[in-house]
Amino acid sequence: MKIEIRGLNKIYPNGNQALKDINLELENGMFGLLGPNGAGKSSLMRILVTLMKPSSGVVLIDGKDIQKHRKELRSILGYLPQDFRFFSALKTWEFLDYSGSLAGLRNRRERLAEVDRLLDQVGLLEVRDRKANRLSGGMKRRLGIAQALIGNPRIIVVDEPTTGLDPDERIRFRNILSQLSQNDVIIILSTHIVGDISSTCQSMALLNRGELVFNGPPEDLIRHAEGHVFRMNLTPYEYDKVKEEYNVISTIPVDTGWEVQVVSDHIPGYDNVLVTPNIEHAYVYYMEHKLHADLIE
Ligand code: ADP
Repeated sequence: MKIEIRGLNKIYPNGNQALKDINLELENGMFGLLGPNGAGKSSLMRILVTLMKPSSGVVLIDGKDIQKHRKELRSILGYLPQDFRFFSALKTWEFLDYSGSLAGLRNRRERLAEVDRLLDQVGLLEVRDRKANRLSGGMKRRLGIAQALIGNPRIIVVDEPTTGLDPDERIRFRNILSQLSQNDVIIILSTHIVGDISSTCQSMALLNRGELVFNGPPEDLIRHAEGHVFRMNLTPYEYDKVKEEYNVISTIPVDTGWEVQVVSDHIPGYDNVLVTPNIEHAYVYYMEHKLHADLIE
């Protein structure tokens, strides 16, 4: 599977430009699309799943223009939208059975077997007879992913799946996705939560105000922040000054005051140790320093 996005622009009727000349190539595995709210992630997802047309540019799936092959491509797409809701009082299994019919699974016996297989996969088999709208937030999200998976899609698009989930459910959801990514599929995970882009994403993109500002493996993004993350022990007085001058990313109280981590282009004028950056550090560094520097250049 291969998705090629070429020269994609989206301008809404009110003049908002949500996407600016996006060029991207996606291959099998998990792809993380990261960016702050309003960056253009949902717009890009909606174009990918053919729910919305771009203003210009094309998306090719295995060489086929998605606008010209909508019907055929929809059958290989699974989509979990950001605002996924259950409108009816169907039981959990009935809801998935209904999704299966929509996905084109005609044979009832096979469909029911598939429903239970998927309920098991996302850990909902025990609650199969509970009304879908009575499930907890995390369970609903897992039922959402099950409905995106029914019919064996080759491309799975999930938009902000972990918003509002507690840490346990977030990890559980991430594990389900990373298991799926072992198959011959492309999973596109859109999120504004940096922690969702785990090491299971082979590749990622960073969107900011409609522009693609980074594309590559997460390790490459992290590499940009190497040598720019510092840990310091500060007195309360020093901490007040550092807060003004630096990008503080974590603060822990200690006996003598505060232990803080900052991202900075230059070495801070306080006793400090270099910290090995993680993806959160890298995101802050990239958004606050690299991008600003590039804009000034
Ligand atoms: P994200 O998913 O990253 O939060 P969106 O794609 O939802 O970003 O939005 C990108 C930009 O497009 C934002 O400035 C948003 O206000 C704007 N936008 C989104 N949908 C519409 C719409 N239907 N009409 C006008 N502007 C929109």
